[in-house]
Amino acid sequence: MKRISLLGATGSVGTQTLAVIREHPEHFSVAAMAFGENIEKALPLIDEFRPKLVAVKNKWIAERLKAELGGREKIVYGLAGMIEAATFADSDMLVNAVLGSIGLEPTLAAIEAGKTIGLANKETLVTAGHLVMEQAKKAGVSVIPIDSEHSAIFQSMQGQDRTALSRLILTASGGSFRDKTREELKNVTVADALKHPNWSMGAKITVDSATLINKGLEVIEAHWLFQVPYDQIDIVIHKESIVHSLVEYADHSVIAQLGLPSMLVPIQYALTYPKRLELKQTKRLNLWEIGSLHFQEVDRQRFPAMTLAYAAGRAGGTMPAVLNAANEIAVQAFLDGEISFLEIEPLVEAALEHHKPDREPGLEAIEEADRQARAFVRSQI
Ligand code: NDP
Ligand code: MG
Repeated sequence: MKRISLLGATGSVGTQTLAVIREHPEHFSVAAMAFGENIEKALPLIDEFRPKLVAVKNKWIAERLKAELGGREKIVYGLAGMIEAATFADSDMLVNAVLGSIGLEPTLAAIEAGKTIGLANKETLVTAGHLVMEQAKKAGVSVIPIDSEHSAIFQSMQGQDRTALSRLILTASGGSFRDKTREELKNVTVADALKHPNWSMGAKITVDSATLINKGLEVIEAHWLFQVPYDQIDIVIHKESIVHSLVEYADHSVIAQLGLPSMLVPIQYALTYPKRLELKQTKRLNLWEIGSLHFQEVDRQRFPAMTLAYAAGRAGGTMPAVLNAANEIAVQAFLDGEISFLEIEPLVEAALEHHKPDREPGLEAIEEADRQARAFVRSQI
């Protein structure tokens, strides 16, 4: 029995993680869970999975939840609460599916506590990949990817000669606007942006798929997770989202992982690794039903966020944290109707230009760069 601490339990990845656990009650249990403010969604989940510890966003939500639950579970709040859930003594593994750079400290704390990490929160590696991977190595802790592309790469590396790896190729669906020109993007609405053709995900990452900055963040995530230089990480547009990513080796053999698009597969693999279990909730891939698959080069003019992300990744230091923080604020402003879709990228670019990078930042410098980038973007909106 693997006992899990789940951060972001009410979110898109969080609820799918619970769906995997629900299918295998003999293998997994929920020791602790954390969510933000969605009490209505959390209550039935707490009732069903019976965690011993629940962490929420703030004191006010904690008071409301206590009143509902009547003292059966321990309830904590804030970042300290999330860290308590991530390092909970009765859990074996952290599944970090919280949204945003707030996920970083809980990951670091869980590594220090020796927990296996299942990582959906890509911001952890984008903002502080060097610290996270170094600490994980020191602690002898595995960081197992949940992001589908990284899970595909991870799966395509099993049993392979790691020293002969020559390239990672991440697939990108192109998001909700992949067939639109930049001219046509001028007047797109939030509702348009949230209609992703293949994946059903949280609002923020769905917008990030439309600018392709999500893929840029994933390149940085892959760089740290697999310790591969940026020159050896490519992206290919693949609109069907069947090939989830590929790994090329020195002999030009390419190994990929395929499947119908479902986050349940990478989530379950992270929980069962190195083993596999049946997954009844997903469907078989019959390639004859799909017929044809398409691949296309990324148009950098059309998707400038791609160039920004590679540049921030290569610059390293605090730059990726600025890229991420600026984008979080800009996307929220777009979702709140404060700016248009095409204003997201220039805001991120301006934040990167405005920032004085620290080449070898510790945790504090990263968090300061994150705060400053947020304040800068807010001042520009
Ligand atoms: P959602 O927006 O659906 O869920 C976010 C979760 O985080 C919710 O449970 C939310 O709680 C919680 N949360 C947000 N802020 C806080 C806070 N301050 N304190 C505590 N909890 C908080 O996001 P997704 O599930 O889409 O994404 C989660 C992560 O996984 C992201 O890093 C994303 O990039 C990554 N990812 C997601 C994929 C997907 O398919 N959705 C695919 C690959 C990666 P509440 O709603 O209760 O406030
Ligand atoms: Mg992904």
